Amino acid sequence: MAKTGPNELLASVDHYFDRAAQFARITPDLVAQVKAVNSVYRFQFPVRQRDGRIRVVSAWRVQHSHHRLPVKGGIRYSPDVNEDEVMGLAALMTYKCAVVDVPFGGAKGGVQIDPHTLDVEQLERVTRRYTAELVKKNFIGPGVDVPAPDYGTGEREMSWIADTYAALNPGSLDAFACVTGKPTSQNGIHGRREATGRGLFFAVREACSQPDDMKRLGLAVGLSDKRVIVQGLGNVGYHAAKFCREGGAVLVGIAEREGAIYSPAGLNEDEVLAHRKATGTILDFPGATNLVRANEALEAECDILIPAALENQITDENAPRIRAKIVLEGANGPTTPEGEAILLHKGILVIPDLYANAGGVTVSYFEWLKNLAHIKFGRLEKRNAQASARRMLQAVEWASGTTFTDRQRADLMPELDEETIVNSGLEETMISAYHDLLATKRRDARIPDLRTAAFINAIEKVGRAYLDLGVFP
Ligand code: NAD
Repeated sequence: MAKTGPNELLASVDHYFDRAAQFARITPDLVAQVKAVNSVYRFQFPVRQRDGRIRVVSAWRVQHSHHRLPVKGGIRYSPDVNEDEVMGLAALMTYKCAVVDVPFGGAKGGVQIDPHTLDVEQLERVTRRYTAELVKKNFIGPGVDVPAPDYGTGEREMSWIADTYAALNPGSLDAFACVTGKPTSQNGIHGRREATGRGLFFAVREACSQPDDMKRLGLAVGLSDKRVIVQGLGNVGYHAAKFCREGGAVLVGIAEREGAIYSPAGLNEDEVLAHRKATGTILDFPGATNLVRANEALEAECDILIPAALENQITDENAPRIRAKIVLEGANGPTTPEGEAILLHKGILVIPDLYANAGGVTVSYFEWLKNLAHIKFGRLEKRNAQASARRMLQAVEWASGTTFTDRQRADLMPELDEETIVNSGLEETMISAYHDLLATKRRDARIPDLRTAAFINAIEKVGRAYLDLGVFP
């Protein structure tokens, strides 16, 4: 399905905000400040193309809320990106950070290019020039504004951004904290690449462990054997599919740009990607059925549907045909307000983007902390904690007269490598934020769904932060 219009994302975010604001326990003047976009930097810059001609590139960086600094949010490379879309995405970042208690304001960047039509050298030129423009206006820096990957960008672009910022700020000790989502060899953090997908898995696992909600949906408690369909096998969709499958779910459908495949017996995302690499398409995967329309996958039989590609994918046009019991929003803004109304009317549980895909920004926060601390998580305490655990086990053996097996000993040793610490911090964040949403939803029977609950939590947290700043004496 084609994107239904770039400006709809901002309108959707505002719609959800206004619906939640009526329940928020802060004053209307504070609500207005929470909603306001603080700064928009719109600029154009020249880039020399391979044929020697100059191309003018349009770009944005929007800082939605300065209630906490730095602000944070990804950079999107897309030919369709525009100012309203970046504003909507920046606002969403503010609310997302608040929902998972990540102490940043929200921001977003956009560069109006199609990365698939540029070669690596041109992409590097665009990325470095975009960064230099941000530096000129103080729109990037470890304490000001910290970008990250989004649609069309990844570790490689983040690495170029960090390098450009460091070159323009010689001697800056914290230069590498100016951007997150970097490769681990360039001061990134283990677990960031997988973080958004892993966070989606923690979110849906927690949702599926609520007996009352599962009873209402007619589903068994737990993730085991739940049938999953994912739209978009990129960073977010691939990892969400992988962790859900490894967590006991069955991946029955995958949709990509070129089409969709379905197999009730289950698919393996790595095998599908290998098939795509070999043949250029996910279609005709052995044992699976091709779906005629790519977006037919959204409407196929499943328990959990994960839109993880683009915004505005579930609309009033296709929502009536969606058969999933749970919609887990991996992408930002995949459901229009009209589409959502239909899903809710059908009793579908929607786990909203501003909570569900917050794993990326959560681990970005850990990466930023690591960069500022200049030390890997676990490095100082690992050996000491393990020695102390060994002494404890020995004491238990002496007191009980038993001897632990090597396996038991290994299981009882604290694991303090960086990835384990990062993943456990992410798990804690996603689980406690889910319970915060449930608690808010329960406080008033008129609060219709988890998205409204998430917006209420965000509006109240950001509003109180503004109050504490003394902006409203
Ligand atoms: P990505 O570029 O890695 O992957 C997107 C995938 O979607 C690609 O494989 C692309 O081919 C596919 N796709 C595009 N159009 C499609 C269509 N019509 N049907 C099916 N598949 C299609 O991007 P990503 O980082 O995975 O981001 C995906 C979404 O998740 C975006 O909305 C982004 O804003 C959001 N998000 C990303 C992160 C992150 O950490 N990367 C964090 C939060 C939210």
